[in-house]
Amino acid sequence: MKNRKLKHNLIRFGIDKLLRTINRTPRVIFYHGVDHVNQFPSLHIAPDIFEQELKFISQQYEVICIDEYYQRFQEKKFSNKEVVITFDDGYKNNLTVAAPILQSFNLPFTVFVSAGHIESGNRFPTFIARAIITAPMLNNIDIECIKFKSPLLNEQQRTKVFGFISHTLKHSNIELINEICQQLINNVSPETYQELCHLHSADAPLNWEEVRILQTKYSCTIGAHCMDHFICNNYQTYEQTRWQLIESKRLIEERTNKACHYMAYPNGIVHEGDVSDHALKAVAEAKYRLAFTTENDRLLNNNNPYLMPRYAARFEIEDFIIKLALKPKLKF
Ligand SMILES: [Zn+2]
Repeated sequence: MKNRKLKHNLIRFGIDKLLRTINRTPRVIFYHGVDHVNQFPSLHIAPDIFEQELKFISQQYEVICIDEYYQRFQEKKFSNKEVVITFDDGYKNNLTVAAPILQSFNLPFTVFVSAGHIESGNRFPTFIARAIITAPMLNNIDIECIKFKSPLLNEQQRTKVFGFISHTLKHSNIELINEICQQLINNVSPETYQELCHLHSADAPLNWEEVRILQTKYSCTIGAHCMDHFICNNYQTYEQTRWQLIESKRLIEERTNKACHYMAYPNGIVHEGDVSDHALKAVAEAKYRLAFTTENDRLLNNNNPYLMPRYAARFEIEDFIIKLALKPKLKF
């Protein structure tokens, strides 16, 4: 990792403390999962690092629940020490691994679930692409609906194909995305696909029973992340976008018997077009209180409630500490 020594020294000489004071703003942090995973580039942070991060934020910040954050946003009464902990997608390990660790620190958190995946148990599009393309038994791939064929004979080819498919999945209409996913799966036998899912069990979504356990046994709020991990960009129609935002809220409320007030946009990179004007209109129509992006901006008093900033958690503790101390937009 670049700048490791610099980060280490910033912390060693207490400069992170100074930066933290200067750059204070309420921070909403997002994770995906917490698990030991080493098969392929992972969305899941190691449990021991996660614990170190929680220890750090519970000492340095005020961790509040999302309702409290909303309240303070309404009243414009932030101390600027607030942290809200969130998870995207809705992985099983949010319940089995993350929740008990969060509870041991007495910390509230929010899980934004892709409601259709909770309902079906199906894997997410990027997972399907990665699991199939990196499957060692596959020597070539054929995705008819986008007229794509390629050999998969070495690491380099697999990486290149994954890059292309992953980009296509993020820049297509939902109907084509579903077709690509189905055709990706058709490249292996049903038994092999089951084996791949089993091999990558950390990427399994929660089911509704588990979602309800999160809500009742832990200080957990459930938010929406669309129905189909739907990226709300201009490749989607207004009707599709509206349905995803309204139906995910409705289904979560029906299955959990609790109001769903918050959502996070899948992918959520506003400057890359992941939040269309359609989405902004539909999210208001669906009557969410707040909608979160993945842009790490400073929170403004007059911030658009449907473009709330968030910070991607880091998988190494020094990275995490420095990132939280820096000016929000700064890249390092
Ligand atoms: Zn997501």
